[in-house]
Amino acid sequence: MTRETVPDSIAIIGCGHVGSTSAYALMLRGVARDLVLLDANHAVAEAEAMDLQHAVPMGRPVRIRAGDYGDAARAGIVIIAAGVGGKPGESRLELLERNIDVVRECMTALSAEGFMGIVLMATNPVDALAQVAYEQSGFPASRVIGSGTVLDSARLRAMLGEDLGVEARSIHAYVIGEHGDSEIIAWSSASVAGVPLLQYARDGQLADPGAVLQRVRQAAPDIIRSKGFTSFAIASCVTRICEAIIRDEHTILPVSTLLTGQYGISGVYLSLPCVVGRGGVERVIDIPLDAAEHAGLHESAGVLQRALQSVRHSSTEIRPQQKMT
Ligand code: NAD
Repeated sequence: MTRETVPDSIAIIGCGHVGSTSAYALMLRGVARDLVLLDANHAVAEAEAMDLQHAVPMGRPVRIRAGDYGDAARAGIVIIAAGVGGKPGESRLELLERNIDVVRECMTALSAEGFMGIVLMATNPVDALAQVAYEQSGFPASRVIGSGTVLDSARLRAMLGEDLGVEARSIHAYVIGEHGDSEIIAWSSASVAGVPLLQYARDGQLADPGAVLQRVRQAAPDIIRSKGFTSFAIASCVTRICEAIIRDEHTILPVSTLLTGQYGISGVYLSLPCVVGRGGVERVIDIPLDAAEHAGLHESAGVLQRALQSVRHSSTEIRPQQKMT
């Protein structure tokens, strides 16, 4: 069975902190015409939908309702934000065993309902779970995207903006690799107004690059330690990715995607700058990397491959991919 897709309709599976804040951000920006909310606890999805509907007169004209997988399957984009988040001190990869069955359940239900749109994975560990979703569904890799290091790159740009006294959106810099402890900063391609970023920084303006990476990696644990979860920044990233897809923007965003030989890496989901439009990931961009960054990216790929290997051996078999474009 295949369903007709409504391109400007978005479904969100998992209405916790990430899912409900994403719904709020999507409504405020008027990205979609229809928002459908699903949660294992249907009463929560209904309550969030009702609360959001009451915000619509102050926001944009978006139809918001709780629904089921039949409704989700008609959406142009399904955001998966279901599953547990990390506790203080827990790495994202430690969530894999706990969230893999949730993602499999979502993908089985979506496939059974003939979903033909784009899957945007937010549940952590986002790279490994985007790969699980891709392998289990048999959808083309271009249509199964992880939010990847869009969030880490936003954190990096916010921090650099403050350090350099330049508005964050004027800074071009990417965190690449795993959305997690092995991620790296692509300093070789970072720039301000076309000037290499490390050259642009005046004496004393920037901590050493290793310390900047540490601050980026440490951001989520620091927030989670006090607030218990993160929500606003990830919701803004999810909203931006959806906007790029629905408006067919061909925007460059460091989403998580299947590598197919870039830098000699293939068969693993991780983040590199990608052209994102109506078809999902339209192109992966090979940015210049120096030898250390190249090695860091390979290390990150190895970490993710080993993590997936461990769950492949310990839990129900992941169906091999059926097709690829
Ligand atoms: P949360 O506990 O607040 O919400 C999770 C929701 O998922 C709950 O409402 C729960 O009922 C629902 N759920 C669980 N199993 C389900 C299922 N099988 N079907 C439908 N709904 C189900 O968690 P949160 O803080 O919203 O975080 C959600 C996920 O997002 C976590 O894995 C977290 O680590 C991740 N996250 C990712 C990023 C990122 O950059 N990608 C950033 C922040 C959080």
